Amino acid sequence: MSDIKPAFNNSHYDVIIIGGGIIGSSIAYFLSANKNFKGDVLVIEKSPNHFESSTGLSVGGIRQQFSTPENIEISKYGAEFIKNANNHLSVDGEKPYIPFTESGYLFLSSEKGKSTLQKNFNLQKKHNAEIVYLSDKELKIRFPWLNVDDLAGGCLGCKIRCEKLPSLVNNSNPSVSLSKRPTGYIR
Ligand SMILES: Cc1cc2nc3c(=O)[nH]c(=O)nc-3n(C[C@H](O)[C@H](O)[C@H](O)COP(=O)(O)OP(=O)(O)OC[C@H]3O[C@@H](n4cnc5c(N)ncnc54)[C@H](O)[C@@H]3O)c2cc1C
Repeated sequence: MSDIKPAFNNSHYDVIIIGGGIIGSSIAYFLSANKNFKGDVLVIEKSPNHFESSTGLSVGGIRQQFSTPENIEISKYGAEFIKNANNHLSVDGEKPYIPFTESGYLFLSSEKGKSTLQKNFNLQKKHNAEIVYLSDKELKIRFPWLNVDDLAGGCLGCKIRCEKLPSLVNNSNPSVSLSKRPTGYIR
């Protein structure tokens, strides 16, 4: 992050973002990375280590099992970004190491919730989410430790080859670096 400058180097900023959690940092990144945006961005963050922010506390799971097209697409985009974050966030060849293992969320339903699970599954498939539908019998085969007595089915998030669990991330996309304009972070 060699082009991030210490606080108050500028007397003027075009955009000031209060809070450097995932949302504030994301706004700062996408503004700075946008070649059409010529302004300077400052992020003001009160926590030195993010231990108290939701971002710092987050487990880091990214699911594609949502019930609206917008959330499915946003999540797919986010997953791709995180997988290639070491390239997206590289500055002058310096790449952050972001460990990310895709294990997949497992959504389960009883008989009562089965139609909702199937409806959402169909929507998620329509948006090319990497998921697979499992009957109660298939759940038992995949997860022998799971009590499926009161389960009717499940929806498992996974990598492209849904018969495999889990797999490590392969970072292979082209590099997109931050722009060279000053972006400030202060605490
Ligand atoms: C325990 C836990 C586990 C979670 N697990 C997941 C998960 O697995 N997957 C998932 O998708 N989501 C998860 N979430 C939800 C996710 O973490 C949040 O939705 C997301 O981090 C919110 O980001 P944010 O930037 O809006 O807020 P925050 O991360 O809270 O960032 C806000 C920042 O603003 C700063 N701030 C506040 N006031 C000021 C001020 N006056 N001046 C300067 N700075 C200020 C704070 O210090 C903080 O750093 C989890 C949340 C928690 C709590």
